[in-house]
Amino acid sequence: MVNESSTKRLTCDYFAGLVMDFDELQVSMVVQQADTIDQKTAGADLPKLTSTLRILQPFPGIYAYYDGRILGKRLHSGRPNWLDDGAYSLGIASYAIVDGREALVYDTHISLAHARAVRDHLKRLGATSIRVVLSHHHDDHVAGNEVFCDCEIIALELTAAMLAENRDAMENLDPPIKPLVMPNSLFRDRLDLAVGARRIQLHHFNIHSADGAVLWLPDERILFAGDTLEDTITFISEAQNTAQHIEELKRMRKWPIRRILPNHGDPERIAAGGYDAGLIDANRHYLERIIDPGEREGFAASTLEDAIADDLASGAISYFPPYESVHRQNIAAFKALPGPDPVPA
Ligand SMILES: [Zn+2]
Repeated sequence: MVNESSTKRLTCDYFAGLVMDFDELQVSMVVQQADTIDQKTAGADLPKLTSTLRILQPFPGIYAYYDGRILGKRLHSGRPNWLDDGAYSLGIASYAIVDGREALVYDTHISLAHARAVRDHLKRLGATSIRVVLSHHHDDHVAGNEVFCDCEIIALELTAAMLAENRDAMENLDPPIKPLVMPNSLFRDRLDLAVGARRIQLHHFNIHSADGAVLWLPDERILFAGDTLEDTITFISEAQNTAQHIEELKRMRKWPIRRILPNHGDPERIAAGGYDAGLIDANRHYLERIIDPGEREGFAASTLEDAIADDLASGAISYFPPYESVHRQNIAAFKALPGPDPVPA
C-alpha cells in the first residue's frame, strides 16, 4: 500500500518525479456505464499513448481501463512488436477495485503512460491506499509496474520467478520494459484480501501461462480472469501444457461464477458487466480441438471464424478479425513443439 500524501518518504525516484504531474495530466476518460460518472473529453494536450484509453465501469467500484481493439489502428509502431500485436490490436484491459480510500489494481497495463492514467484516475476518485496484483508475468500485464513501484505489488511466487528469468529479455523488448519493477509481496496458491467491504481472493490457475492468478469476488461471484480466458480465443503461449490448461478450465467451470471480466475481450461486453461461464466452455472447446492433430489439420484449412462458428452462434464469444492471426500462431505453436503432441488427460 502507499499513502499518496506522504510521497516525501518514497524511495522510488521514478514515482517521485511523477507526483507533481498528476494534477496536470489529462486523460481520455469515456466511462461507458450509462447512469454514473461524468464523462470527460480528451484535451488537446493528451499524452499520445493514452489517446484511445477508455475507462469503463462494469460494476459499482469496479473499473476497466480499456485500450485498443480498433481495426487498423496501431499504437507503438508499424513494425511487429509485442505492444501492438500482442495487446493493443486485440484490445486490453487492466482493472481496479475501489472502495473509499482503498484501491486494488489488477495488472499495470501496456505502458508507463497507461499506468499513470490508471493511477491518476484512482487519485481523482480519492483512493490514497493502492495495492497491485499481477495476473501473470507477460509483458502486456506488467509494463506499467514502475508507476506503482512504491506500492505493494502482489504476485504468485511463480510469476516473480518467471519475471526474474525473463528480465533481460523484457528490458530489451520493443518497446522495452525498463527497468522491470518486480513484485514485492508473494503468495503460492491462494491469498485472501479485502478492499473496503469487499472480500477478494486470489487463486492460482495454470491456464495460458503456468503462473495465472485470477481474482475472485466470492460474494458477488465475479471472476477477473487475467488471460486464463479470452474473447475471441486464447493465445497459446505454452502449447506443451495445453492438456493441463483444459483440466484447469474444467476446475474453473465448477465455481459458481456469475460474471467474468477477462483482460482481453470485447469492450462493450466488459462495460455491460462481462461474460457468463460460457466463456470458459468456449475457451475449452477451442483447446480440445486444437490439441487433437486431426482437428488441427481441419483448423489449418479453415478460417477461425468458421472453426469456432458454434460458439460464435451461441454468443459465448464474439468474433474479432485480428484473432485470425492468433489462430495461425496457435497452430504454429503446436508444430514447433519437440516430440509427440501433448495428449489430453
Ligand atoms: Zn495479455
